[in-house]
Amino acid sequence: MDYDEHIMIEIFNSFSSNKDSFEPFEKNMVKIFICGPTLYDYTHLGHARIFLTYDLLCRHLHERGYGTDVLVNMTDINQNVFNKAKNESKDYHTVARFYAKGFVEDLDLLNIKSINRLAYVSDYVFYMEDHISQLLEQKVAYYANGNVYLDISKDEKYGILSKQSRNQLQLHRLDIGPNKKSQEDIMLWNCSDDFGFSWKSKFGSGIPWWHIQDTTVALENFGPNYDIHGGARELLYPHHEAHLAQYRLFSTSENPVKIWMHVGLVLSNGEKMSKSLGNVVWSRDLTQKYGQNLLRLYIFSKHYREDISFDEKQIVEGKQLLEKIYLACTKTSEKTDSVLSKLVDEFFIALDDDLNSPKALGVFENICSKVIVGSNIGYDDFQRICQVLGIIL
Ligand SMILES: [Zn+2]
Repeated sequence: MDYDEHIMIEIFNSFSSNKDSFEPFEKNMVKIFICGPTLYDYTHLGHARIFLTYDLLCRHLHERGYGTDVLVNMTDINQNVFNKAKNESKDYHTVARFYAKGFVEDLDLLNIKSINRLAYVSDYVFYMEDHISQLLEQKVAYYANGNVYLDISKDEKYGILSKQSRNQLQLHRLDIGPNKKSQEDIMLWNCSDDFGFSWKSKFGSGIPWWHIQDTTVALENFGPNYDIHGGARELLYPHHEAHLAQYRLFSTSENPVKIWMHVGLVLSNGEKMSKSLGNVVWSRDLTQKYGQNLLRLYIFSKHYREDISFDEKQIVEGKQLLEKIYLACTKTSEKTDSVLSKLVDEFFIALDDDLNSPKALGVFENICSKVIVGSNIGYDDFQRICQVLGIIL
C-alpha cells in the first residue's frame, strides 16, 4: 500500500514541546541518532527500554513505507571505562570491546534489528580535534588553563532545547575549571592527565569531552542534518543542549535535527537504576528469564514518555496477552473481515500518534479476543502487527 498521501506520523518533539508531524529531510529515509551505551557494563533495563522504543519506532516506520538509517555511538572515552580498565589492568579498548560485544548480544536477545551503524567514539578523535580547531578559529571556543571551552555567550539560541534562560543556565555548575569565562560554557577538550588514558592533540594531551564526541560521530556519519535524535530524557540538558549548539555551528541547516525524542526512565525502588544504589536489573537476565516477547509487551504497555516503576509482577501479567496472541495466531484465516480490518488500521493509527503503544496493545488484545471466538483475520495482517511489535511467533 502507498501511504505517502495520507499517513502522518506524529512524534512529541522536546524542541517544540508539541507532537510534530513528521517528514524526513530525505524522502522516505529517516536518519536517527541514538545516544548509546558507555562501555563499562552490560545493558540494564532502563537502557534496554530506550533501544526497544526506537526499535518499535523503526519497525512502525518500515510498515509505513519508510527506510531507516540508525546510528548509535558507543562511548569508550569515559572515566568509568578508564577506571574499569585500570582496576582490571587492561587497556581501555579491551574493556570497551568486551562490553560492546555484550551490548550487541543484549540487542540480539531483545530482537532489536534496527540499528545499522555502531560507532566507537575513540575512532573519531582525529575528527574531534579538527572540529574543536574550527571552533577555536571561529572564535566561538577558547582556551582556559589548557582546557578548551565552547563560549556560550556567542550563541544566542543556547538554552532553546531545554527551555532555559541565561539566568537559569548560569545556576548549573558544570565542567568546572579555572579561568572558565562563564559558568554555562561547555567543555570541548579536557587537558587533565588524571584519567589514566589520554590522546595527543594540537591542544596538548587530554581527552575530547562528552558532548563533542557525539557531535562528531553524528556529523561524520550523517553530514549537516538528520531527522531524529533519541535518548533518555535525562540527557536533555546539558548533553543534548550542548550537542545541538555544536551541531548548529557545523551545519548548513538552520535547524539540523528535526525531532528530539526523549524516553522516560525505568525506576527501581523509586530511584533511577544505578550500580551504586544496588538496584540495577540487567536486560539479559530478564530476557533469559521471561523471553523477549514478554519483555516487549511489558515495556510497550507504558507510553515511552512516561517513567516506569519496575515491577517484575507486571512482566508476568503480560503472559495472559501473550498466550492470547499465540492462540489467535493458530486461528488466522486467508482474509481479514471488515470489522477486524478496521481494528488492524486502528492498531497502526495508534502508533502514528506519538507511538501510543499502550493503546495499540489494547487494540491488538481486542483483535485476538475476537479471532479466538471466530472472527477472521488474515495471516498477513496478523504478521504485520507482530512484526511491528517485534513479537516472534
Ligand atoms: Zn549522547
